[in-house]
Amino acid sequence: MDLRPTNGNTSITIVRGYTYRLTKKSDILPLGMSRTSVLRPNPDASAAQAAGFFVGGEPLAVDLADTLVTVTDPPTDLLSDDEANRRFWEMEAPGLPPEWSAPTLTATRRLRDAIRSLLDSALLGVPEAEPALDAVNKASAKSPTFIAAKLDGPNLVAVQKWTGKAAGDIALAAAARSAIEILADPQTLRLLRRCANPNCSMLFVHGDSRRQWCTANICGNRTRVARHYHRHHTATHGT
Ligand SMILES: [Zn+2]
Repeated sequence: MDLRPTNGNTSITIVRGYTYRLTKKSDILPLGMSRTSVLRPNPDASAAQAAGFFVGGEPLAVDLADTLVTVTDPPTDLLSDDEANRRFWEMEAPGLPPEWSAPTLTATRRLRDAIRSLLDSALLGVPEAEPALDAVNKASAKSPTFIAAKLDGPNLVAVQKWTGKAAGDIALAAAARSAIEILADPQTLRLLRRCANPNCSMLFVHGDSRRQWCTANICGNRTRVARHYHRHHTATHGT
């Protein structure tokens, strides 16, 4: 599967983590793209693609699920080795609790497979598999959280602290909770969507119902090119 972007898209404004949907639309569009365009680019796509992934800037659970390309046979694992695993977690670092450290590749893949299965089940409207639910709940339980008071100038502020016995527990718990927050919230779950490109398995949570593709520069472009070709071919050959 060709994962290369079909254009540079270097003018996308990078806004990290979960905050981009709160940003003005004008802030998250590539330069030169109108606000009314049906192409709603993911603002983190170029950063994710530079790191070897398709999609970035979705909720953590969705970014993690999107590291498995399920339309190929066999599925293509973008977490191909320890280095790719490290790049993934570093890409997600701005949205992770400050105490995070990188989980092992094996643990990341195990949780990723469970999350992907749960999100796919939710999209298909079929019951979630118990083993996948167990895996997500266990990952969530491995990092208890508490609030602590911290001095901020002359004032005390409450901060959430995450704990974990093993390196990686906190990052995995954050991903598991991200999945639970999507799956158990009907309003968020309604926004979960699979890319409209039939040759793409990427998931995303849309902030705009007109968004159809995981990425404007890969699937959006290819779909537009295919439609243009089809129209042109039909007009020329009358078929
Ligand atoms: Zn796509």
